[in-house]
Amino acid sequence: MTVTPERTRVRWDYSPAPESADHVRLRDAYGVFVGGEFADPRSGASAPTVNPATEEPLADVAVAGPEDIAHAIATARAAQEKWAALPGLERGKYLFRIARLMQERARELAVVETMDGGKPIRESRDIDIPLAAAHFFSYAGWADKLSYGLAGRGAQPLGVVAQIVPWNFPLLMAAWKLAPALACGNAAILKPAETTPLTALLLAEICQEAELPPGVVSILTGDGATGAGLVRAEGIDKVAFTGSTAVGKDIQAALAGRDVGLTLELGGKSANIVFEDAALDQAVEGIVQGIFFNQGHVCCAGSRLLVQESVAEAVEAKLWERMQKLRLGDPLDKNTDVGAVNSGEQLERIETLVAAGEEEGATRRTISCDIPERGHWFAPTMFTAVSPVHRIAVEEIFGPVVSLLTFRTQAEAIEKANNSKYGLAAGIWTDKGGRAFEVASALQAGVVWQNTYNHFDPTAAFGGYKESGFGREGGAAGLRPYVRVR
Ligand code: NDP
Repeated sequence: MTVTPERTRVRWDYSPAPESADHVRLRDAYGVFVGGEFADPRSGASAPTVNPATEEPLADVAVAGPEDIAHAIATARAAQEKWAALPGLERGKYLFRIARLMQERARELAVVETMDGGKPIRESRDIDIPLAAAHFFSYAGWADKLSYGLAGRGAQPLGVVAQIVPWNFPLLMAAWKLAPALACGNAAILKPAETTPLTALLLAEICQEAELPPGVVSILTGDGATGAGLVRAEGIDKVAFTGSTAVGKDIQAALAGRDVGLTLELGGKSANIVFEDAALDQAVEGIVQGIFFNQGHVCCAGSRLLVQESVAEAVEAKLWERMQKLRLGDPLDKNTDVGAVNSGEQLERIETLVAAGEEEGATRRTISCDIPERGHWFAPTMFTAVSPVHRIAVEEIFGPVVSLLTFRTQAEAIEKANNSKYGLAAGIWTDKGGRAFEVASALQAGVVWQNTYNHFDPTAAFGGYKESGFGREGGAAGLRPYVRVR
């Protein structure tokens, strides 16, 4: 038991509870995964992927170039026809097998996700990996029922789809993209993010174990140039992208005038709205979950906290108290709440926006905690006295930083929440069901949570409005972007 003077109260210390990584068997080097096999990239290029908590390299990973892309597309094209010709029930069995194998290897996948990305093991173990498997299970069930999901209409697969995913939920985003594409009879080429390719490569091994027909799934690791090359390549029928709005716009421009389908899941600056009649202690838990989950590296993070003026002081005090209990540190420790920032580059972005918040006159409070010597870290931070025009209220920080703004009336809450170029998600905390429905229907957001936040389910559609993108992933709605309906 230690006494921390700055907190003027007694605090119990936790003993370290590290998850073992002994069972993880990573290869020293990974090639591209095309035609059901790993092979050296034709580009001859590779780059290390690094643990952001220790800055130690984990493995060397191929950087696919134009020849690799052309080869993957030709291989996928050759495999797709046979895959689409299988009865839906048979395709579903492969997806089911992949889901079961993900469950069998769940511990390994969770540890690797945490080592490669920096997120707490508690999250990768309890959220990322189970949800990724759940997406494969869910779409396994859809494979032979497509017409039911498409209002009784017949469906044809699009062909070869290119899928580009970011680094914040590497395996989960791969599952969101691959499962519906495969269920609908497409062949897929997945490009993981440069900083977090490893779980996608383990998923390639799982595809091998599941004896998925070669060529149905290809994994092309690489950097932004690999992604840019893939979307511009001849022979793809659709692009599905999750990432920054800037890259989303670039992809949309690159595809203009081409008969290539596109769905974009981009950034956000989501409003988490607390009304005076809300259960405040629960709301504070939801605020913490909304912004500090995955270090705030979440496209739908509740980064704009809108609190009714009459309870603003109470919410601020409770939130600050709760924030100080967050434990930052070793992502592999089961007691850790806030892990490492994914990369030095992302840390710089967070620091730049936080500095702008201070310069523009908002009041910053960052919790006092030990920061590990190595790796990339940012302690949970709250800004108050925030004006709606401050950069921290407008731009996506993508870090553990919440901006608190206030409102007086319901109409003002809606106006402020909608005053954003983004429209991905929102949260409403209120005791009144009628108010929740009224506000939800007035919000320009693809997902609205009531009295909860950041809850995901494979059967629920997810996607945005405005500069948060278009198209839906998840549930029956997630089938639509992968088929031509007749
Ligand atoms: P990017 O949008 O650059 O990366 C997302 C994916 O796209 C990665 O696989 C990336 O590859 C790839 N990519 C990069 N450039 C291109 C291109 N020109 N054409 C096709 N694909 C490309 O996100 P960042 O990692 O750079 O993050 C920047 C900011 O974006 C963050 O600070 C955050 O604000 C936001 N972001 C939002 C996400 C969301 O879910 N809404 C997710 C990630 C980031 P590679 O990683 O190899 O560069």
